[in-house]
Amino acid sequence: MGEETSREELLSEVREALKNHELKVYYQPQYDSVTSRLAGAEALVRWIKPDGSVIMPGSFIPQLEDDRAILELDWYMLREVCIFLAKQKKENMYSVTVAVNFSRMHVHEENFVEQLCAIVDGYDMPRKMVEVEITESAFVDQSEMIADWIGKIRAEGFRVAIDDFGSGLSSLSFVKDISADVLKIDKSLLSRNCEDEKERIVLESIFNFAHRLKLTTVAEGVETREQLGFLRTCSCKVIQGFLFAKPMPEAEFMQLCQKGYDVDDMEDILLVQAPSSATQLLLEAVFTRYPLVIFANLTRNSFYMMAYENFTAQSCPSTGVFEELIAHGTSTMHPEDQDLFRNTFSISNLLSAYERGDKFVSVVTRQIGDDGIYRRVETTDYFVKNPSVEDVLVIALCHNLD
Ligand code: C2E
Ligand code: MG
Ligand code: MG
Repeated sequence: MGEETSREELLSEVREALKNHELKVYYQPQYDSVTSRLAGAEALVRWIKPDGSVIMPGSFIPQLEDDRAILELDWYMLREVCIFLAKQKKENMYSVTVAVNFSRMHVHEENFVEQLCAIVDGYDMPRKMVEVEITESAFVDQSEMIADWIGKIRAEGFRVAIDDFGSGLSSLSFVKDISADVLKIDKSLLSRNCEDEKERIVLESIFNFAHRLKLTTVAEGVETREQLGFLRTCSCKVIQGFLFAKPMPEAEFMQLCQKGYDVDDMEDILLVQAPSSATQLLLEAVFTRYPLVIFANLTRNSFYMMAYENFTAQSCPSTGVFEELIAHGTSTMHPEDQDLFRNTFSISNLLSAYERGDKFVSVVTRQIGDDGIYRRVETTDYFVKNPSVEDVLVIALCHNLD
């Protein structure tokens, strides 16, 4: 009963505080991990009492979450952020995207997306300047509903970040069901010195799948140079943490934006070239050069598509039986080229080439595009060796020559 009363009291105090503008937006800068440039900021609420004491969100947000008061608070924060961005725009200042936290309670709010658009458009702000941050715990149940909701937010031009990833509440399945722009890796996954090998393996894998899913990665709670060094080897894109900057009042953040965007004293770390970021770049270069990349296991007659983007030909199965893939490919070729394609990439022909010691098999054939036009396509199957399996593996790289 006592607890209930104090919650009620807290709620009415927060409502009062909202009216009296005692709730302030603090901005925590986010930095590009490679260039050390200011890349964004997160808006975090601070309750500044009239006597100057500061109340942290951890002491009142959880209580607000069972009540509509959290909705009011989040909308208030968004408005304050828009006012700030509008001020920067008016003064022609350098500005960055600001992430605003939205409680999972908003999923049930009618007209959420309409209200979001109305507020941001009302301040004449480009929608991409606002990032909607939704905590991972929101995805635990109703993941289908959330996926739908996020889709609508993104369709209106806002960026969406999944906050606190790995904090323990969710399963991995939502990452595959939900398309977001940003994945924020929770600080609980990161120990002070990253000295534990298992921890590093888990983090590397998270970054790996996040990048393959084309999510921008942000590491939260980065406090040490060891953490930064490790995160850079994982090609983590953005760093948020006390190592660079703590959350700060608006005026201070405004100055920081004005001054430019480099962080001092980080040059030595920038000299370290991370081996895995080079691998990442190499992969990106391959995917840019070859819009269609397929990984196949000839021994097991299976394949999956590693990249398939901006390729002119009709859609093709993304995983399954290799011979069916070749049959599909053959059906998209010019009638005069079909035998050539089918025979070159038959498993028996590829295996004999492999046994002869050939490094690759390549042909140029004419393939029909979605627009009905035939274009020359070069398909090259490279044999690759994986020391841990006996199977014959190939990487197929395809690109249009016309
Ligand atoms: P969050 O959204 O995950 O925000 C990141 C928290 O990590 C912030 O705590 C930030 O100050 C803290 N942090 C950042 N770098 C470091 C670091 O290097 N070391 C450590 N130890 N901590 C770091 P903060 O400001 O206390 O906020 C706590 C949580 O309260 C937020 O976690 C968010 O879930 C919630 N919150 C804050 N503002 C709002 C808001 O306006 N609306 C809603 N719905 N929730 C909010
Ligand atoms: Mg957050
Ligand atoms: Mg977080």
